[in-house]
Amino acid sequence: MYTHSPLKALTFSYDDGTEYDRRLVEILNRYGMKAAFNLNSGLLSGAGGWEQNGVPIRRMNVKGLPELYAGHEIAVHSLTHPRLETLDAGTVLNELEQDKLNLERIFHAPVCGMAYPYGSYNETVVNIIRQVGLRYARGTVSTHSFDIPVNLLTYQPTCHHKDSELMNLAEQFIRLKPDVPQVFYLWGHSYEFEVNNNWQILEDFCALIAGRDDIAYVTNAQAFLGEQP
Ligand SMILES: [Zn+2]
Repeated sequence: MYTHSPLKALTFSYDDGTEYDRRLVEILNRYGMKAAFNLNSGLLSGAGGWEQNGVPIRRMNVKGLPELYAGHEIAVHSLTHPRLETLDAGTVLNELEQDKLNLERIFHAPVCGMAYPYGSYNETVVNIIRQVGLRYARGTVSTHSFDIPVNLLTYQPTCHHKDSELMNLAEQFIRLKPDVPQVFYLWGHSYEFEVNNNWQILEDFCALIAGRDDIAYVTNAQAFLGEQP
């Protein structure tokens, strides 16, 4: 169990389960980094997909995913990626509870966290998240902060990987000598690296911040809850 020793933790959160997660996992594993991968279990299929800047983007089939994501955390992103706050309570419950159950069945591990599709929510959604037994949920608003808030169900990340302050924040985090636990929380979509042709951002960030004795490289659950996975 991770007990916030060292006090600084770095964690990643990547959404949607597209094919570019394969390259992302390879890079993270090479640097000893851990992520939560937020998956829509109702959409885990190579059928369909979309294009951005001429780059094809497809979600992955289920077979092989437990092996791909081994050592990382799997988290809820809803069954079908709707705007949850537009739905009736029964449908929000279905989107979250069934996604959690499906992911626990596929990955043979408890699921305790989530990322909001589109980063959006309201009070009803937050109450249902609590009811389903999820213990943290991430939005998409950069805080440029490393503090761990009391309410983890409306957690907002440190920054997105395309944030112009990314490397400055990394250097700030490396210099930090905190008295309380601090988390550098980076989020995004792996397909964005391909669409924007900027995988180097991730390589540079990892190279700078990897392998330091006073930083724990952990999953979201470990960073927030001090727990596996
Ligand atoms: Zn998403």
